[in-house]
Amino acid sequence: METIYNKSRFPITTWPGVPVRIPKVWLRPVTLEAGEFLVSWRGEAKEVQLPDELYLRELSDLDLQSPKEILHFAEKYGCLGGGGQVGPDWEDILGKPLGNEQLAKINEDVQQLRLHFKKSHLEKMPRKKQSLIGSVAHVKEFTLRATLLRDLVRLWRLYKEDISFDSLRDNWENPVMPFSGIEAGVEDYAKNDISKALAQGIHAVLALAIYLEQPLSAFHVRLEIPAIIETEHFNQYEDILKRPVANLYQVLCLQLLNHINEQAVYKQCTNETCKRLFVRQRGLAQHGQYKTTGVLYCSNFCAKAQAQRTLRRRQAKARRLHREGMNPRAIAKQLGAELETVKGWIGG
Ligand SMILES: [Zn+2]
Repeated sequence: METIYNKSRFPITTWPGVPVRIPKVWLRPVTLEAGEFLVSWRGEAKEVQLPDELYLRELSDLDLQSPKEILHFAEKYGCLGGGGQVGPDWEDILGKPLGNEQLAKINEDVQQLRLHFKKSHLEKMPRKKQSLIGSVAHVKEFTLRATLLRDLVRLWRLYKEDISFDSLRDNWENPVMPFSGIEAGVEDYAKNDISKALAQGIHAVLALAIYLEQPLSAFHVRLEIPAIIETEHFNQYEDILKRPVANLYQVLCLQLLNHINEQAVYKQCTNETCKRLFVRQRGLAQHGQYKTTGVLYCSNFCAKAQAQRTLRRRQAKARRLHREGMNPRAIAKQLGAELETVKGWIGG
């Protein structure tokens, strides 16, 4: 019988096994209040399509120590997390969020901060302004989801053997999914009569499945109601008719799932000042066609930047060789360049 026990690796699949269309998200004006609260305001909402690979690129680059950087991110793509003025909402993370010991502790802390914020800040605003508040999130609510997402990416990379278990441990960020739990599970590998590497893969996949479950529940199988049926005329059906709205965290989890579904390969940009992970080069797509093999750069920008850097180095080398007394023809031969080009570089 074929079981996991006589394998060294195992395949994973997704349900329904096809890429799921990424919905647009609602973007509202956001401000940073009291230095640590992200407040989004009613009105002026626009629906935007997020850039591809946002979870892998901009989210990995984001400096979570800086509330200002977080604000810039939230202005562009929306807020991660955020309940009403009353309390934080953790439902997009786990089914029974407060059954998670770590999350319950964070919840208590955030509740306190929110309460203080309400008394010292929100209640001092003019009534009219108060009524325009859409949602409130402490930066901790944002960073919690951001670090969770980054660790989910790391877990998938561990499964793919892109990174080692030691690297996973060293880079682990989120406070909700305890790394010690995964480690303890892996340590039991000998009991299960499997290799350590296989145990790591299994626990990575288990953790991924558990933590992707709730956010992905926003994208259930359903019949979509055509926009031509304007829901305001059919008030009694509003809950069913209105289009499902996914928040940014859920959409970023879906971006990750779609990559897992296609077994995407993460590449590292070869622009030496970038080195970020990516799957498809941005700015290369034409009519929805992407090239995924043989691509060295994450974007057109990086391709150009590296090409210019290489060119400047070649020019500098040509000038140095010239100063050292080498003739243009010999320089051209050494650098594999055209003679006329080399003459241009060394000035005549
Ligand atoms: Zn790059």
